[in-house]
Amino acid sequence: MSTVSAYAANSATEPLTKTTIKRREVGPHDVAFDIHFAGICHSDIHTVKGEWGTPNYPVVPGHEIAGVVTEVGSEVTKYKVGDHVGVGCFVDSCRECDNCKAGLEQYCTGTGMIATYNSTERDGTPTFGGYSGATVVDENYVLRIPDSIPLDAAAPLLCAGITTYSPLRHWNAGPGKSVAVIGLGGLGHMAVKLAKAMGAEVTVLSQSLKKMEDGLRLGASHYYATADPDTFKKLRGSFDLILNTVSANLDLGAYLGLLKVDGTLVELGMPEHAMEVPPFPLAGMRRSLSGSMIGGIAETQEMLDFCAEHDALPEIEVIAPDYINEAYERVLASDVRYRFVIDTASLRG
Ligand SMILES: [Zn+2]
Ligand SMILES: [Zn+2]
Repeated sequence: MSTVSAYAANSATEPLTKTTIKRREVGPHDVAFDIHFAGICHSDIHTVKGEWGTPNYPVVPGHEIAGVVTEVGSEVTKYKVGDHVGVGCFVDSCRECDNCKAGLEQYCTGTGMIATYNSTERDGTPTFGGYSGATVVDENYVLRIPDSIPLDAAAPLLCAGITTYSPLRHWNAGPGKSVAVIGLGGLGHMAVKLAKAMGAEVTVLSQSLKKMEDGLRLGASHYYATADPDTFKKLRGSFDLILNTVSANLDLGAYLGLLKVDGTLVELGMPEHAMEVPPFPLAGMRRSLSGSMIGGIAETQEMLDFCAEHDALPEIEVIAPDYINEAYERVLASDVRYRFVIDTASLRG
């Protein structure tokens, strides 16, 4: 075992503080890597604040992890020392159920996916995430980061990137399709870039027009304020696909009304409380309400390669670990353009 520095939350109400954690010995199928950057995802904040149930404290968050391989196990074939690698939201799954076999490990029905933090490894030890200096992960759950993607920009792709890429692919975003993105935050700004790169016509639906210039620069063709009731009249029946990236309760009826016949509204943000679904706007145009959670390992690799090819990279603000608590406050105030990424240099070595 090795000891590495990390930032952890010890309760829902205290700030994260610096501590040390143990990482396991490098097993035959394991890849050990120095973490260079870790993105801050809204899920980290929901988890440490206990908004998705009481977590197992201490929680070391971080599931947007990018780094450089330092050691590989004797049986490892996919990676070697020096490779640029990443880890996303999960580090293992049962590998035997239908979903795992189909590359949908995130929907594992065996053991369930083993999350990168606040979960339990097969051997019963708790998982700790990327707000730390190094980690050890089975090679089958490690992603290759293409050389053309800087490691700091790669980190947010491992959650924000795949969370938006997977539904865009699943619902066939592309030429001739009209896609709306609700919210221009960490997820939303990637959704705009990816949908545009896939060839779809992109509209941003944001509370105000404050970020309009950014939205258009990122690839949106249209930008509307949802605080303006006229938006909902004007855009009625306009979209094939709407991705809701906002982690707050919406007036679903109003948004469903913006879909064309057979259109789909996909929930990506995970608000704490249930939302009401009015049946008429759903049935009236044979619309669908769905949800999507990250993506499988193969699809995550496909997304990384797609982002390299299309230069679709997140806009980031790199911070030091001692700024994490302030960064959380700023995420909650929507005061980040568009993802905080922790430079973990001071947690290494
Ligand atoms: Zn996330
Ligand atoms: Zn499984």
